[in-house]
Amino acid sequence: PTAPSIMTMNGHFAGVGDAPTKEQYEHGIQVIDEDKEFNPNLNTYLQITKTAQSGFNYHLISVFGSQSTGKSTLLNHLFGTEFGVMSETDRRQTTKGIWMSKNKREGADGAQKMADNILVMDVEGTDGRERGEDQDFERKSALFALATSEVLIVNIWEHQVGLYQGANMGLLKTVFEVNLQLFLKDKQSNPRSLLFFVIRDHLGTTPLANLRNTLIADLTNIWTGLSKPAGLEKSRIEDYFDFAFAALPHKILQPDKFITEVEKLGTRFRVGHRAGREHGLDQELDGGVFLPEYHRRIPADGFSVYAEGVWDQIVNNKDLDLPTQQELLAQFRCDEISREVLEAFDVSIAPLEEKQAEGVRLGKPAVLKDLGTAGKAARVKSIKAFEVEASRYHKGVYSRKRVELEGKIDTRLKALYHGQLSAAHKSGVTSFSDAVSSAVKAGQKKGASYEFAEIVEREKKVALKQFETEARSLAIEGVPWTNFKSQYNLYEKDLDEVSGRLRKEEMRRLASRVERWVRSRLGDSVGLEFNKLGSGRGGSGAPEDGEKPATEKDLWDRIWNLFTATVKEAEIRFTERAKSFDADEDEIEVGLWRLRRKSWGVLRARIDEEVMEGNILLKLRENFEDKFRYDEGGVPRIWRPTDDIEGMYTKAKDSTLTLIPLLARFRLAETYAPPDLPDWIGNAPASVDPQDEEDLAPIGGVDEEEGKSLEEEMTILSEAKRQDLVVRFKKTADGVYVEAKRSAIGGVAQ
Ligand code: GDP
Ligand code: MG
Repeated sequence: PTAPSIMTMNGHFAGVGDAPTKEQYEHGIQVIDEDKEFNPNLNTYLQITKTAQSGFNYHLISVFGSQSTGKSTLLNHLFGTEFGVMSETDRRQTTKGIWMSKNKREGADGAQKMADNILVMDVEGTDGRERGEDQDFERKSALFALATSEVLIVNIWEHQVGLYQGANMGLLKTVFEVNLQLFLKDKQSNPRSLLFFVIRDHLGTTPLANLRNTLIADLTNIWTGLSKPAGLEKSRIEDYFDFAFAALPHKILQPDKFITEVEKLGTRFRVGHRAGREHGLDQELDGGVFLPEYHRRIPADGFSVYAEGVWDQIVNNKDLDLPTQQELLAQFRCDEISREVLEAFDVSIAPLEEKQAEGVRLGKPAVLKDLGTAGKAARVKSIKAFEVEASRYHKGVYSRKRVELEGKIDTRLKALYHGQLSAAHKSGVTSFSDAVSSAVKAGQKKGASYEFAEIVEREKKVALKQFETEARSLAIEGVPWTNFKSQYNLYEKDLDEVSGRLRKEEMRRLASRVERWVRSRLGDSVGLEFNKLGSGRGGSGAPEDGEKPATEKDLWDRIWNLFTATVKEAEIRFTERAKSFDADEDEIEVGLWRLRRKSWGVLRARIDEEVMEGNILLKLRENFEDKFRYDEGGVPRIWRPTDDIEGMYTKAKDSTLTLIPLLARFRLAETYAPPDLPDWIGNAPASVDPQDEEDLAPIGGVDEEEGKSLEEEMTILSEAKRQDLVVRFKKTADGVYVEAKRSAIGGVAQ
C-alpha cells in the first residue's frame, strides 16, 4: 500500500498561470485556484493525458465533503492519483480550489475493469475553517461540479450520519438548491447525477442498510424543506438524483481491510445500465456507476472551453444557463474545428489554385489533371473530419456551421472548377476548329470529295465528349452546383458558332471553286462566239443540229444566254453543295448573289479581253477578208481585172464596219437594250454584311450609289476607241484591197 505523498507549496504544482509541462501534472491540474481563477492550461492537460481525443468516452467525478475527511486520500487510493493530502502531524488545509486528475489506474488488471478516461475533481473542503464562513465558494464549486460531473461522491464520517445539522447536510442543501436553480433553465435535457455516499470509518456495528435509511430520511427532509422555484414546487428529489452508498473501514485502525474495500469500491467505476434499476433513492450497490444518462454530453475536446464558460458565468454571479453554454461552446468549437479543417483543405487545394492562376496569367489556361478526384477527395475529407469532431456538439449549431463550412469549401472549389471548365472550353474550341480545318485540308489534298458537314459533326461529337468527360469528373453527388449543364450548353453554343464560321469559310472556298469553273466555262464559250465573228459569214456556215444559225446581230444574245445558262448551272452546283454542309437559306442566298456578281465580273473581263485592240482588229480583218476574199459558196476569189473589186471592197468594208457599233454595246437584238442586269443579279439579300463583301467590285446600274449607269456598264468600247478602231480597220482593209487590186493586175500580166 502506497502512502499518499505530502504536498508542499513550493513543490511541483501545476497551478494557474504556470507554463505546462508534463512533469508539472504529476498531481493533476488545479482547474480553479483559491482566487477563483480558471486554469487556461486545462485543455493542455486533457491533451497530455490523451483525454481530449476521447469524444464522449470519458467520465467526470467530483468529490465533496468536509475538510479533512480523507477525501483526497480516498481518491488517491481509488484512482492512483496524487492529490495532496494533509500530513498527519500538520493539520492544515491542503486542497485549494478545485483540482483535477485523470484516473491512473485505468487499464489495471481485474475482473471488473474501470471505465475509460475517468477524470476526478477534488473539490476544496467545505468547513470553511480556513476560509472563514465562505459559503460563496462552496456554492460556486457545487454549481460547477453539478454542471460538469456525472457522479458526485459525498464523503462522510460514519459518526456524522444522522447529524442533520452537520456541515455535510448544509452542503447537500446547497447542492440541491443549486441543482434546482441550474435545471430550471434546462428542462429539456434534465440530466441526472448520481450522489454516491461513501461512509468513512465504518465500524460495522450499524449495517450500511441502516445508515442508508438514515441518510435517505435526512435527504428527503432537506428536499422537503427547500423553497423551490416557481414551477418546480412539486418536483421530487429522485427527478434529479440517483443515490448509491458504500462504506469503508477505518484507514488507520484497519489498514488492510481499508485497502481491500477501496479496491472493491474501485470496481464500481464502470459504465452501468439502468436496466432493472429504479430512479432515485434505492440504487443497487453493485452496478456500474456511470449510467449514460448522467453524461453531460460535452465532447472531451470542448470540455475545457465549456468548463471555463460555465465557471465564468458562476464566478460573475450570472444565471447559469447550460443550454446557452452548450450552444456557445458548440459555436466556439465548431469554428475552431472548421478552421483546422480548412487549413488542411487549403494545403491540398492551394497548389491547384496557384497552378490554375499561373496558366491564366500566361494566357494559357491549363486543364488540371485529375482535378475532380483531388477536389472531391479534399471536400469529402474535410467535411468528414468536421463531422467526426463537430457533430458531437449542439446539433443546431453543428448543422449551421457545417453548412457554413461547405459554403467556404464550395466557394473555393467552385472557382477552381469554373476555371477548369473555362480552360477545357477554350482548349476544346481550339482543337475542334483545328481538327475540322485539318480534316478539310486533308480532304482537299486527296482531291476526293469530302463531306464538310460530316467532318463537323464528327469533330463536334469528339469535342463535346471531351468536355462532358471533364465536367462529369468534377461532379459531386448531391451537390447541385457541380451540375455543369449550363457550361456544357454554352460550350456547345460556342462550337456551333465556330462551326458557323468554318462553314462560312467553306462556303467561300466553294464559291471560289464555282467561280473558277464559271471562268473556265466562259473563257471557252465566249471565245468561241467571238471567233465566229472572224468567219464573217454571219452564220452561213453549217448550223449544228438545227440550232438557230448564229448571226452577227445576235452576238450579245448568244453571249447573254450562254452566260446565264452557265451561271444557272453554277448556281445549282453551289446550292447542292452548300446544302450538303448544312448552310442555311440565308447563307445560300448570299452565296448565289455573290456568285452572280462575280460571274458578271468574269464575263465582263472576258469580253474586255476579246475586244482588246489587237484581238478585235484581227477579228475585224478576218471578218472583212472573209467577205471580200471568199464568194457566197466560201470559195476564195481569184481576182480578175474585170471584177468589181472596188464595189466588193466597199460592200465588205461597210458590212464589217457595222460590227463596230454592234460590238461597242452589250445589247440584246430583240429589245435593242442592255439585258436587265440589276434584275438578274437581284437585290442584295438582307443578311449581306457589307463589311464582308468589300471584295466585290461595283457594277454599273446595280450599285447605283457608285455613280455608274447600266449603260456605262454595258459599254464595251468607248467612243474614242470606236473611232480609233474604225480608222485602224480601214487602214487594214485598204491594205487588203490594194493587195487584191495588185493581184488582179498581176494575174492579167501573167
Ligand atoms: P481531505 O481534506 O478530505 O482531502 O482529507 P485528507 O485526505 O487530506 O486527509 C485528512 C487526514 O485524514 C489525513 O491526516 C489522513 O491521514 C487522514 N485520513 C485519511 N483517510 C482516513 C480514514 O479513512 N480514516 C481516518 N480516521 N483518517 C483518515
Ligand atoms: Mg483534500
